[in-house]
Amino acid sequence: MWLQVSLLCLSCLTLPGQSQGQDRASLRRSNDHAGLCHYTFTVASPEESACSGTGMKPEMDGVSSRLTVLEALVSRLIAGADAGPRASGEDGIQGAYSQVTRERNQLEQDKERLNGQVQELQRRLAELSQEAESLRQRPCQQTHSSGGPQRDNRPASDPALNLGNGAYQEMKAEVKEVLASVLIPEENHNFTGCGELQSVGDPVLHRKADSITGKYGVWLQDPEPQGAQYSNETVWRIDAVGKDVRQLFAYEDMDQLSQGFPMKVLVLPEPMESTGGTMYRGSLYYQRKRSRTLIRYDLTSESLASRRELPHAGFHGQHPYSWGGYTDIDLAADEQGLWAIYSTSKAKGAIVISQLDPESLEVRKSWETNIRKNTVANAFMVCGRLYTVASYTAANSTVNYVFDTATGAGRAVAVPFKNKYRYNSMVDYNHAQRKLFAWDNFHMVTYDIRLGRANNGRS
Ligand code: CA
Repeated sequence: MWLQVSLLCLSCLTLPGQSQGQDRASLRRSNDHAGLCHYTFTVASPEESACSGTGMKPEMDGVSSRLTVLEALVSRLIAGADAGPRASGEDGIQGAYSQVTRERNQLEQDKERLNGQVQELQRRLAELSQEAESLRQRPCQQTHSSGGPQRDNRPASDPALNLGNGAYQEMKAEVKEVLASVLIPEENHNFTGCGELQSVGDPVLHRKADSITGKYGVWLQDPEPQGAQYSNETVWRIDAVGKDVRQLFAYEDMDQLSQGFPMKVLVLPEPMESTGGTMYRGSLYYQRKRSRTLIRYDLTSESLASRRELPHAGFHGQHPYSWGGYTDIDLAADEQGLWAIYSTSKAKGAIVISQLDPESLEVRKSWETNIRKNTVANAFMVCGRLYTVASYTAANSTVNYVFDTATGAGRAVAVPFKNKYRYNSMVDYNHAQRKLFAWDNFHMVTYDIRLGRANNGRS
């Protein structure tokens, strides 16, 4: 409103003869019939003595059009003063901001892409290193079917010691040939007896541990359960991360393991070391923490049934598997009994296998192999044969060595083995189910395996 009044004043100033008209102007106040006060401002025309009906219209039209022009002009001025410069400045800042944002997003994308490439390269490097290591460990079959550590006997020109790209590719091709020729002889398709490992299936997931204590651990079913309280369906689990590992979880069966809570929690009388425990004939066998003491814990009476030192066995980091974790003493059960897989100073780190009395834990007989314990990721026994896994992190690893306690001879093999979750801390065999049980980076998995007639005719 103030604007319109001002405009009227402006327009009045521009009217010709306005100074003369001021002399004849008057202001009058009066009440109307409703009682409201009216102000009437009267100005005499300087040019006309009387109103002529239509003579006023052109002048009024002129005033009106000038008012419209002035209103538009003032509106533009006000709009320009209020918004123009700021809008223009904001546009500039907005544009620069958008440009910076785009560049930042591009840089972040580039960074992510490069990080991905670095990780992929690191992964491939780790796999290649592991494969190279497993090839290096592979004894020469033609000249060393048994005996001492074969890698020490190799001539300096052995291609496995010269892991240039060409030699490495040759070795890979050789491994593939071995795989193709020995993996599945026709006669082994329906083999159900106790034989040599022919293949390991893909890992099947049963449960993922939901806390950090389950990054690694032990889980098993008893292949030969005793008593009525537990069956071969009962699943046993120990999360092995922690300073005082004593809890043994019992699940009714695989379904309960996969979906729910344990039916029972047993507390071990002595803390457990690492992931080498095994389940056999109604007992949990394990290594006592920071010692070479073996313990048999009876599941029915929930008490310590026997304990005995494993003579000369390295422990607490002296002879672990390649992933460390104090995996010095690994216990295993198979069709032929209970075994300990470990090393001693005398064996200089080579794997020693001892068959144990399941009741007393006494050593019945021992064998010294020609593969170093710290070069392999894990081991298990099947039909009296020791098998080692080359890598605990490589997605596509191999079972790379077998030692037959019946013949006392070891040799390289190359049976594909997958570490799907890339941190496999425990591998053990269940002969009742003919499966491997493994704990791979929080994941409890099983692998079906196939056995077949051995190359040496023994089964
Ligand atoms: Ca094992």
